[in-house]
Amino acid sequence: MAFDNGNGGFSRQMYDVSAMGLKCAGCGKDVLELPFEPKADRPVYCRDCNRNRRDTRGPVGASAPRQLVDVSAMNLKCGDCGAPITELPFEPKADRPVYCRDCNRNRRSSFGSRSF
Ligand SMILES: [Zn+2]
Ligand SMILES: [Zn+2]
Repeated sequence: MAFDNGNGGFSRQMYDVSAMGLKCAGCGKDVLELPFEPKADRPVYCRDCNRNRRDTRGPVGASAPRQLVDVSAMNLKCGDCGAPITELPFEPKADRPVYCRDCNRNRRSSFGSRSF
């Protein structure tokens, strides 16, 4: 592969939006190019602000709250202690037993602690 084309790496498709007079919603700088097609109802950000916003949000999944699935209508019971289960951190499978939060934690800790 040839990387010495003078473009400084792989070139993303950039949309020329200089004719639209867009301004960065973060710092107010003129936005001339975007890596995506701008939506009229969405604020746009310059490259610096975009990077800052991404940094503060952090890696996806690290600190984001788990999405809980409401399963209260399914009348699920814990496969261990029989407690009714109203929420799960995942979509339940019909052929898989589900466990309440306590039993889940117990199972995981007994599974993972190897005599340390
Ligand atoms: Zn900006
Ligand atoms: Zn249980």
